[in-house]
Amino acid sequence: MDLTQELTYLKGVGPSRAEILAKELNITCQEDLLYYFPYKYIDRSRIHKIAELQQGMPYIQVCGRILDFRMEGEGRGKRLVARLADDSGILELVWFKGVKYVESRYNTKDLYLVFGKPAQFGNKISLAHPDLDVANEGNLRVLTGGLQAYYSTTEKMKNSYLNSRAIQKIVVSLFQTMNERLPETLPDYLLERLRLRPLNEALRLVHFPSDSKALKEARYRLKLEELLYLQLQILRFARQRSQKLQGFPFKLIGRYFNDFYHHHLPFQLTGAQKRVLKEIRANVAGQVQMNRLIQGDVGSGKTLVALMSMLMAIDNGFQACMMAPTEILAQQHYANISRLLKDMPLKVALLTGSTKKKEREVLHEQLRSGQLHILIGTHTLIEDTVQFHNLGLVVIDEQHRFGVVQRSKLWSKNVTPPHVLVMTATPIPRTLAMTLYGDLDVSVIDELPPGRKPIQTIHRYENQLAELYRFMHEELQRGRQIYIVYPLIEESERSDYKNLKDGFEHICQAFPEVKVGMVHGKMKPAEKDEQMAMFSKGETRILVATTVIEVGVDVPNASMMLIQNAERFGLSQLHQLRGRVGRGAEQSYCVLLSSFKLSEDGRKRLEIMTSTNDGFEISEADLKLRGPGDIEGVQQSGIPFDMKIADLARDGQLVEYTRNLAKQILSDDPDLLKPENAILRRELKKRYAHKINWGVIS
Ligand code: ADP
Ligand code: MG
Repeated sequence: MDLTQELTYLKGVGPSRAEILAKELNITCQEDLLYYFPYKYIDRSRIHKIAELQQGMPYIQVCGRILDFRMEGEGRGKRLVARLADDSGILELVWFKGVKYVESRYNTKDLYLVFGKPAQFGNKISLAHPDLDVANEGNLRVLTGGLQAYYSTTEKMKNSYLNSRAIQKIVVSLFQTMNERLPETLPDYLLERLRLRPLNEALRLVHFPSDSKALKEARYRLKLEELLYLQLQILRFARQRSQKLQGFPFKLIGRYFNDFYHHHLPFQLTGAQKRVLKEIRANVAGQVQMNRLIQGDVGSGKTLVALMSMLMAIDNGFQACMMAPTEILAQQHYANISRLLKDMPLKVALLTGSTKKKEREVLHEQLRSGQLHILIGTHTLIEDTVQFHNLGLVVIDEQHRFGVVQRSKLWSKNVTPPHVLVMTATPIPRTLAMTLYGDLDVSVIDELPPGRKPIQTIHRYENQLAELYRFMHEELQRGRQIYIVYPLIEESERSDYKNLKDGFEHICQAFPEVKVGMVHGKMKPAEKDEQMAMFSKGETRILVATTVIEVGVDVPNASMMLIQNAERFGLSQLHQLRGRVGRGAEQSYCVLLSSFKLSEDGRKRLEIMTSTNDGFEISEADLKLRGPGDIEGVQQSGIPFDMKIADLARDGQLVEYTRNLAKQILSDDPDLLKPENAILRRELKKRYAHKINWGVIS
């Protein structure tokens, strides 16, 4: 049975359809089609009455006749609306696209079986882009039999009549031509032990489920298989890496670390900071290079942990460096760290894009000679001209802001790669981190320094500004400072800049009692610095800004943030922004301002933000809303996240389960050489023919 055959061998697929399938879905051979799984199934065992429909129901079917068609709305909201009636009521069918096709295809005479997901607008229930089948007494029985698979298709495909139904027909003909069984892709012992459906059965059931229990079992088998191979691959690679990479053992906890801890630390470490420092210490004292991620919510005190880790390096005769994603942040780290170390005999320097040539030359020299202990900077640090005498530890702050290539370059700054500590306040959900980072070690700072009051977050509409302004005047009177953030995205950059500047002027007028500053990405670095410095010193009391202030900026006296058009920001971005307030002992506020028109996702994001301050919860929610492919850092990793059936967001438990299963298998048979694992070895080879560049995922 040769599944690599072209699709044109199948009934119903001519050259033009084959071309569309290849272009739109990357389906080029029969095997691709076999593994193109339905994305949903509709229970057709029951026909609902229109009067029963409610928002929030799953996909359902109703049966009725169309009363009329008409166009409604303007511009992007323009749509075709058809009223459908049964004996219990009337419902609206709505199409925003493919209007001509719909009008030519359906009429007001036939009786239709209609499938869709009910949604409520005002007091009307409607189905958007429903599927319609002409129903007559003859086929009604057939059409209502059991579970119907739905395949996702693109707009282009639909225009060529390649809808879900058409795909299903092609899949039927594929199964008709499959006269042999496919070789099993999991070892017998696993099938037996885990009571899994055999491959052939699972594939048939997933396309043509006999009932929901069988479908569930089929999907479980296929998901488990997909995740198991992914985990096997990751673990094997991680093992190779850790065998290869020797590290510098930092044996001593010496005078700098102890001196700092006992004499210069301005506050008590939190329990979480202590724990993480111990984890780092144990790690760097060993033979293997440290590759560790610190996840800690905004304000949890990651910088201090980084600094104390750098002291460990210095104690052992090494240099350390710290890379931050923006100039503002690098400067702030430099200022903080210099202040903390001011009474210690250590030399700290800052290197950014705007460091003057002369200064830079001196700096390079001091780095090479080893006079300089700590270098802080932006991505300028990775330039080839920057050479260290003996680099032992690299800290990367807000690591999700850097590309993989940028990060990996720091690895090569010494003969033996330095220990690497990456820090992020955008936590990656556990299941994803496990997959994405292989065996990267993860430390979590899950405790905020004492005395912090949780930030109060509220959602307000634009017409409530007057009331908000009153509150802002009061906050200013109490001596506080305020951020006002405007969205700025590339696609609408010009109008966004205009909004920002108009907003700035408006704010200056509305708050004449204070000085207002502004900072955005188009300013020259020196200008930006000046604006930030003025706000930091409290000379300007309101800062109108874009997301350039998103990461790291630390002005404890700022107790309020107003985010304009909050519905346009992503969840992790909102969370990062919000982390700019609540850094002092005062009660802080974050106000999410939005228009009345909110998409469903937009509304959900704002709801999540007002319901929790917990970065982990937010990242889980983000993953569910957006899917793993869109999470920062995932795309660059090269991991095949275009999973065919498993979903890293929703199948978290199975991810963990397969992770453990893979560990068991490999601990018993590291190179999969035992006969019973021959299938695993064969499949791994087949699936990961192209290597993933795991080495650079730090
Ligand atoms: P983040 O984890 O977001 O990078 P920072 O390192 O900027 O957080 O720390 C936030 C603030 O908390 C800083 O002003 C820092 O000085 C302060 N801080 C850090 N650790 C402690 C601690 N153990 N006790 C009190 N304040 C702390
Ligand atoms: Mg930070």
